[in-house]
Amino acid sequence: MIKKNENYTNLAKGYLFPEIAKRRREFQAANPDAKIISLGIGNTTEPLTPHIVEAMKNFVEAMGTKEGYEGYQDDSAGMPKLRERISSAIYSGKILPSEVFVSDGAKCDLGRLQAMFGRGVKVAVQDPSYPVYVDGSVMAGAGGKHPVTDHGFDDITYMPCLPENDFFPDLSVVQKDSLIYICSPNNPTGAVASRENLSKLVEFAKANGCIILFDAAYSFFIQDKNLPKSIYEIEGAKDCAIEMQSFSKPAGFTGVRLGWCVVPENLKFEDGSRVCDAWARITNTAFNGASNIAQAGGYAALDETGLAEMNATIRYYLENAALIRSALESDNFKKMGVEVYSGGNAPYVWAKFTGKKSWDVFDEILRQCNVVVTPGAGFGPSGESFIRFSSFGHRENIQEACERLKSFNM
Ligand SMILES: *Cc1c(COP(=O)(O)O)cnc(C)c1O
Repeated sequence: MIKKNENYTNLAKGYLFPEIAKRRREFQAANPDAKIISLGIGNTTEPLTPHIVEAMKNFVEAMGTKEGYEGYQDDSAGMPKLRERISSAIYSGKILPSEVFVSDGAKCDLGRLQAMFGRGVKVAVQDPSYPVYVDGSVMAGAGGKHPVTDHGFDDITYMPCLPENDFFPDLSVVQKDSLIYICSPNNPTGAVASRENLSKLVEFAKANGCIILFDAAYSFFIQDKNLPKSIYEIEGAKDCAIEMQSFSKPAGFTGVRLGWCVVPENLKFEDGSRVCDAWARITNTAFNGASNIAQAGGYAALDETGLAEMNATIRYYLENAALIRSALESDNFKKMGVEVYSGGNAPYVWAKFTGKKSWDVFDEILRQCNVVVTPGAGFGPSGESFIRFSSFGHRENIQEACERLKSFNM
């Protein structure tokens, strides 16, 4: 018999979302009449916009003709015109099309990226964080042997992100030559890193031989003009940062699958070789390019009409977030001492139930309100006592959930 790769044995038991689904199923089975509303999962609910649908429809129809048919792209890094549009529309030309690698999504890139660094690499993550950073590192053998219950993996540096530090980590805990995962706007906290904080981060990375893996999957949600949408708005970032992006949340491409990552030509390994060359090699080997239909949709999403439609969808979700925020600021929550964090630049509202366990709050909200949320503890040790409320939902469901929350008590 063949042994399982021990890196997979190291993974923490139970992933957050299956556990939520299990508790929801059990509650529904015991309460068949309960109309459960989910504010739990970061999955989009609003339809693709007409301009994107039109572009993909036209592309598919052309694919059904001799003249319009296309197979593999010449370069698995994406259609040249899409890479050019990303370079100009998103980065004002400051990132070259050749530095843009189109993919089937940010999570997929995050999973593949670790292969470039191998098992010995040191990893630092924001705590709480999107579970993929830790699990992807553990699968690549960078997590260390055994998960220590409640405190995460031995070889991963957890950087607490709490209200006390404005949800931006103290970098002094990070070892030299580490990969530093930063997500801004953040899932789950909804916090956006300021220009000053990102400047400090870039400075730190350059001085300490670190590479920043910057997850900008929610950058389109940023409304505040003073907040940076890309790490490359910071001087020097091209020497030390990779950026992941995704059409999933802004354009509803969670099922269509399309994203990109930027690997600047300046970014080097210790031996002087270019990271972008290693990345090209991996994508050519373990990935054959994103769906050309999805790329046709992404290309349309980034023209003037596409961007305007995308912004309308984003505003819809942000209005949902504002409704959730105001429900959580009602008297019942004030009496419980609940603190609400939501700056209006992300689809998540993060709330602290001081002195209570996340999973207990989860169970109680499910029981009293029939609303599913996400327990903060599932995102890392520093998420304990917090709850994440997602604004991805139809307006009528969000309104109904908010009504129910206004009589919650615990
Ligand atoms: C949803 C999400 C992504 C997007 O992943 P895709 O694979 O592009 O769908 C990436 N990062 C974070 C933090 C997310 O929440």
